[in-house]
Amino acid sequence: MSVLIKNVSIVTMTEPELVYGYVLIKDGMFHTVNSGEPTDELISEVGRIVNGQGKWLLPGLINTHGHKGMALLRGHSDDLPLHRWLEEKMWPFEAKQDRQAVRAGRDMAMAEMILSGTTTFLEMYHLFMDDFAERIEEVGMRASLMRSMIGLCPKSEQEAKLDEAKLFAKQWHKKASGRIQTMLAPHAPYTCPPDFIERIVEEARHMSIPVHMHLAETQFEVNKHQEQYGIHPFDHLEEMGLLSNVHWLFAHGVYLEDTHLDRMKEYDLAVSYNPVSNLKLGSGVARVDEMLRKGLTVGIGTDSVASNNTLDLFEELRMGALIQKGQSHDPTTLQARDALKMGTVNGAKALQFENLGKIEKGYEADFVLVAPNEVHLQPKEHIISHLVYATKGTDVTDVYVKGKPLLENRELLTLDKERIVFEANEEYQRILQK
Ligand SMILES: [Zn+2]
Repeated sequence: MSVLIKNVSIVTMTEPELVYGYVLIKDGMFHTVNSGEPTDELISEVGRIVNGQGKWLLPGLINTHGHKGMALLRGHSDDLPLHRWLEEKMWPFEAKQDRQAVRAGRDMAMAEMILSGTTTFLEMYHLFMDDFAERIEEVGMRASLMRSMIGLCPKSEQEAKLDEAKLFAKQWHKKASGRIQTMLAPHAPYTCPPDFIERIVEEARHMSIPVHMHLAETQFEVNKHQEQYGIHPFDHLEEMGLLSNVHWLFAHGVYLEDTHLDRMKEYDLAVSYNPVSNLKLGSGVARVDEMLRKGLTVGIGTDSVASNNTLDLFEELRMGALIQKGQSHDPTTLQARDALKMGTVNGAKALQFENLGKIEKGYEADFVLVAPNEVHLQPKEHIISHLVYATKGTDVTDVYVKGKPLLENRELLTLDKERIVFEANEEYQRILQK
């Protein structure tokens, strides 16, 4: 069905940057992006017309790192260092989670993302990935999915995990009308021995899919790697010849030197910047300004709500830009335009989705409408500035993926909010008492 959205300010993420007019969507793609009013002839042809009433239309936001399977752990433990937080608080609760609990958390996470303007996300997790892929197919979001692997176990167990991850990746790659793609994901260099990472990369090359991994998130983990192997984890991957002939997306990359950044550019690697999680866990601040200056692809990510504690990418973009300015003592660092790119076009490239992240003919019709009605968005003409420095997730009124509405006037169309709120509480208590 064709859909026409008219009377909107379109933030294209291409040239020209802003268009006041309308978009026509056919077969889930943008067919026309034009200024002014649609003709009567066009109006008579389309299946559905939405009057945008002066709203802002922008590409749906893209979250390049997270673990929605941990959603029930929001607020479960705060204010501990990463490794103690993981080992003493996160992993014991996660070990008790069953399919029903993980599903309740993921439904909640999808609702939260849609309600705050995210249309595409990455999920790196080890539990019930098939179940999640089926839910995403029903709910209508776009996602890059992977069965995450921890290699602190015998070889036979590593291989069993890799078989499961490969099977999942094969079954779901480019499924759900292309809304689902897959990757392979060793969890991190501190949880995967080098030869296991090597095995995973071999398979990813063979399957022509990307690899995603946490890298250099804390000084502690880098120091430990250096003690054990005598080399920085990034240099280690390079020395083993694992960086070429495959697309890498690293999460965090907080502890990287200039020389690493130069070589990352040579390999055309992508980085997921997770400012709030890195701040909350006291990990530090990734050198995103330098990464962008060197031409690296940097997307934005939230990590899980256990370390964030929300999935609102507008908040993440604002915080991500501000902290770079504070860190560099330079207000010209990471400007609003570049922050918005991280949340849209760069995210699409980091996740290797084609024709995504812009409002342009031939691109996927994944977009959101923001209503500039609230006082915190007045005066309303500075759209790019407001989107990064003033907009809240709750200003999003409508969300579309592949031309289909998932949110209309803040009503979720494919998820039941009341049930989600009830089940999130029920399931958290049930697991807690297990
Ligand atoms: Zn993570």
